[in-house]
Amino acid sequence: MRNQTETMIEIKNLVKKYGSFTAVNGIGFSVNKGEIFGLLGPNGAGKSTTLEMMVGLRKPDTGSAIIGGFDIAKDLLKVKEVIGIQLQSTTLFELLTVEEILKLYASFYQKNVLIPELIEDMVLTEKTKSRVKTLSGGQKQRLAIALALVHDPWILFLDEPTTGLDPQARRTLWDIVLKLKEKGKTTVLTTHYMDEAQVLCDRIAIMDQGNLIALDTPSGLIKSLESDSAVEFQYEGNLLTQELEQLDGVKQVGKHKDTYVLYTDNLQETLITLIQFTSEKQIQLTNLQTRTSTLEDVFIHMTGRSLREE
Ligand code: ADP
Repeated sequence: MRNQTETMIEIKNLVKKYGSFTAVNGIGFSVNKGEIFGLLGPNGAGKSTTLEMMVGLRKPDTGSAIIGGFDIAKDLLKVKEVIGIQLQSTTLFELLTVEEILKLYASFYQKNVLIPELIEDMVLTEKTKSRVKTLSGGQKQRLAIALALVHDPWILFLDEPTTGLDPQARRTLWDIVLKLKEKGKTTVLTTHYMDEAQVLCDRIAIMDQGNLIALDTPSGLIKSLESDSAVEFQYEGNLLTQELEQLDGVKQVGKHKDTYVLYTDNLQETLITLIQFTSEKQIQLTNLQTRTSTLEDVFIHMTGRSLREE
C-alpha cells in the first residue's frame, strides 16, 4: 500500500548540455506524494528542460529519474501510465468540442476518469459542447490540464501553467491545482512567478543558470534571509550603498535603476535611522514603502539579480 510520506519522484544529478552550453547542471531532489513542488526561476534557468527530462521527453546526458517508482530510462511506458503532462506548447484540435477531445484522449488509455466530472473539476461545464477554438486562454489551459488527467495519473506536470493568463484565470487555475492536491495528486510545476510559487507550492526548488540554488518550503526560504522586512524607496540621485548598510537593522542593500531596497531585521529602527540620515543630508525620497520579504527577495539575495530581469 502507498502511504502519505511516500516518495513519488526521485531525481539525481540530471545534466543536459546543448553543445558546449549546459542548460541543466546536475539537478537532484525528491518529491513526496501529495506535494505541489515548484521549479522557480527566471527565463532560461533550465526549468522546462528539467521537467522534460523528468517525463522522458528529453534524454539526460547523465543522471537518473525515478517517477512513481519507475525508472524513466528503463520503464518509460510505465512512467507514462502514472503521469499527466501539460506543456507550454500543448496543441489542441481546434474544431473538436471540449467533450469530444476529452473522449478522444480517454480512448488512448485503458483506465479513465469520468469525463463530466473532469469537465466540472476544470470549471468547463458550460463549455462542454463548445469547440476548442472558441475557448479563452484560461479555458484552453484548463482543457490542457483536463487532457493530462483523463487517465487518472498519480503525478501531474505543469509547465508555466499560468503564463499569459489574466489575474482571474490565474486564480481559477490555482484553485484547480489546490483541489487536485486535496484529491491526493502530486504536482510538479514550473513558474517564473514568485507569487504563484508562494501561494501554491509546498516546496520550491529555485533554479538559476542550470543550477539548483535553494530548496525549501516558501516560509523556510524566506526565513533563510536574515531580514524579514524590506524598505523600498526611490531616489534619482546616487546614494552610497555602504552608507545605507550602516543604518540600524539593515542586512543588505539592493538597487535597481532608481529603486533602493533595504533588507532589515528591525523595521522600526531602520525607518527611524533612514529618515534621520536622509533629512540630515536633505535627500528627498519618493514612494517610501515597507513590506515583508518575499521569494523575489530570496532570489535577489542569492544571485544579486531580480527574477523579473530577462
Ligand atoms: P526555462 O524553462 O527555465 O525558461 P529552459 O529549460 O527552457 O529554461 O532553457 C534553458 C536554457 O537552455 C536556455 O538558455 C535555452 O535557450 C536553452 N535551450 C533550451 N532548449 C534548447 C535546445 N533545444 N537547443 C539549444 N538550447 C536550448
